[in-house]
Amino acid sequence: MIPRDGSQPSVEDTRRRQLVEVTIDSLAELGYVGTTLAQIAARADVSPGLVAHYFGDKDGLLDAAFRSLARRVGNHVRARLRQVSTPRGRIQAIIDANLAPEEFDQRTGTAWLAFWGQVLHVKPLKRVQSAYQRRTLSNLRSALKKLVPPKEAERLASMIAAMIDGVWLRAALSGWREADSESARALLTAFVDERLKQSAAAANDTTTAAANDAAARRGARAAGPAAGERFASINPATGQVLGYVTADGAAQIDAAVAAAQKGQARWAALTGAERARVLRRAAEILRARNGELAELETRDTGKPIQETRVVDVASGADCFEYFAGLAQSLSGEHIDLGPQAFGYTRREPLGVVAGIGAWNYPLQIACWKAAPALACGNAMIFKPAELTPFTAVKLEEILLEAGLPAGVFRVVQGFAETGRLLTRHPGIRKVSLTGEVGTGKAVMADAAQSLKAVTLELGGKSPLIVFDDAKLDNAVAGALLANFYSSGQVCSNGTRVFVHRSLKSAFLERLVRRVAAMRIGDPMDPATQVGALVSEQHMHKVLSYIERGRAQGARVLTGGMRVTSGDLANGYFVAPTVFDECRDDMAIVREEIFGPVMSVLEFEDEEEVIERANATEFGLAAGVFTNDLTRAHRVIARLQAGTCWINHYNVTPIELPFGGMKLSGLGRENGRAALEHYSQLKSVYVALGDVDAPY
Ligand code: NDP
Repeated sequence: MIPRDGSQPSVEDTRRRQLVEVTIDSLAELGYVGTTLAQIAARADVSPGLVAHYFGDKDGLLDAAFRSLARRVGNHVRARLRQVSTPRGRIQAIIDANLAPEEFDQRTGTAWLAFWGQVLHVKPLKRVQSAYQRRTLSNLRSALKKLVPPKEAERLASMIAAMIDGVWLRAALSGWREADSESARALLTAFVDERLKQSAAAANDTTTAAANDAAARRGARAAGPAAGERFASINPATGQVLGYVTADGAAQIDAAVAAAQKGQARWAALTGAERARVLRRAAEILRARNGELAELETRDTGKPIQETRVVDVASGADCFEYFAGLAQSLSGEHIDLGPQAFGYTRREPLGVVAGIGAWNYPLQIACWKAAPALACGNAMIFKPAELTPFTAVKLEEILLEAGLPAGVFRVVQGFAETGRLLTRHPGIRKVSLTGEVGTGKAVMADAAQSLKAVTLELGGKSPLIVFDDAKLDNAVAGALLANFYSSGQVCSNGTRVFVHRSLKSAFLERLVRRVAAMRIGDPMDPATQVGALVSEQHMHKVLSYIERGRAQGARVLTGGMRVTSGDLANGYFVAPTVFDECRDDMAIVREEIFGPVMSVLEFEDEEEVIERANATEFGLAAGVFTNDLTRAHRVIARLQAGTCWINHYNVTPIELPFGGMKLSGLGRENGRAALEHYSQLKSVYVALGDVDAPY
């Protein structure tokens, strides 16, 4: 051990440490009774007198050994606690350190068992054990107090501590056959998650009527909590509190930036291949934990589990895998400057960058931003939307488990104010935002103060054009994909569906039949196709657009209302809605609704539909259904949209850049293009001859 003052350990310290290690070996082999001073001396090849000189007697030696084991766990707990900022993360850090693989190792485990057996009889050992227990309980309590009421925190801390000891003890007594470190940690994790969920549900039941009042809740959200205050995240399918999160303020952001700067220097110094290994491992862990992450995402967002199981986590994993490949092939250029010189470019990281996410694809957005940023050697501080704060934290855990240095990916929580602190922070070199157009403008203005680069993935009101030669069933399927995934909360949705006049009635007939048959229900039910909207406030916004559509003369063919049958009345469900008889000037056709609302429009010829499709300030996406090859490419080339599909819609492979034109955004995510936005070029001129100065 290196003393705190930084000086080298003395010979005496080193000898003491060696004797302690020999004692642990002896305990593991011979147990408490068989371990004697003479035994230790013989094993260490020193005289028993020397052992006695350092430790007094056997009790002194065993006391030192026990302290050494307890100190090591304590150090591991502290190291892990330093890497996390959220209360749930802190609880996990305590569990992970106490049940780490090294505590399940035969040698260490048997030594611990020998000590536990003596605690009741040997006072000094009892003191060490009590101090260790007190520290564990106090760490757990302080994290839990941020998540549950104080009394519950007290109770739960004791339960978790007892579970940690109990699980470990059973594993040790079974000779490590009953559980290994990983399954023990998984058991504790599931236990804690379940208890926190129950406690959140109970808290919701006892919430006062005033707090339950929707308007009050909306008001509280709009203002946002101050730094250090907790805010609730609601399961939009049930209206119940899913959990609590603490808002980060300036102090936490400063600390995150400082940690990120430190970590980034180490991360950027690795080779691309070394970084790639970590990213690939993260992809593997994401896939291995697909079920658990999908469930959490569904509870947090209200999206059907049948989507989150196949899209959200998988897309994140694909992204890490893809950018792992690119991390290895990052390179500059060699530029020939004649016989006297050449030049080259280096692609270098930006430093610490920030990601700010929207609530519709919380984990996927975090992955789409983190993977290219990390591949290029940056550190990222990520703020999820306040409505969906949970899965980004899981990503932080996963990246640490995959081997990312501490601080290199850090999640901070909060409302717009926390986002603003990131955007304005002088230590952050770039911000990548996914959000609304208005937020994009605010972020860009704030970022300008410190001349940060920005990537903006913003809203849309995208056109989907169905020509008269389109294969009808494909076009109908495309329109469904373009409107109803994630209950319509998809930025690239093709909500303006232009159908050629000759095809329109057949198109509508098939479309409405399929939409009316869609299954709305509990998002956790694998048969459910349409889940809840993200919040009560957002549901009211979507419903008010539907009312405006009706009032302006559009006709609802199916849907058009909130769904309140059975338990769905507690959540925020809106039936998939199709409007016919729409005009280009209607609010439902011009403005982004971000809900399951499709507007069908009729057109006559190609020139006309291109002009109408482009008559919007947005430019995120567009789709064309036609069997005419030349028309498909001709029309796509003229559509003002960053992401386009021919004879399909809303498929977003990681290999293809994704992003918007006009007010839909700046920059691109995914594909090689993303690397441009997370790195900077350094040009180097190399002279090959003598230097001639004219002075
Ligand atoms: P918002 O713009 O409301 O919020 C996006 C994020 O920005 C949130 O984390 C929010 O914090 C934060 N934020 C808000 N104001 C500021 C500010 N002044 N400075 C810094 N950060 C701020 O978007 P939504 O979450 O409502 O998401 C829906 C929108 O996102 C839609 O318009 C949709 O089209 C768009 N979107 C675009 C995508 C794309 O790739 N082009 C993909 C997905 C969605 P908080 O919410 O916690 O207050």
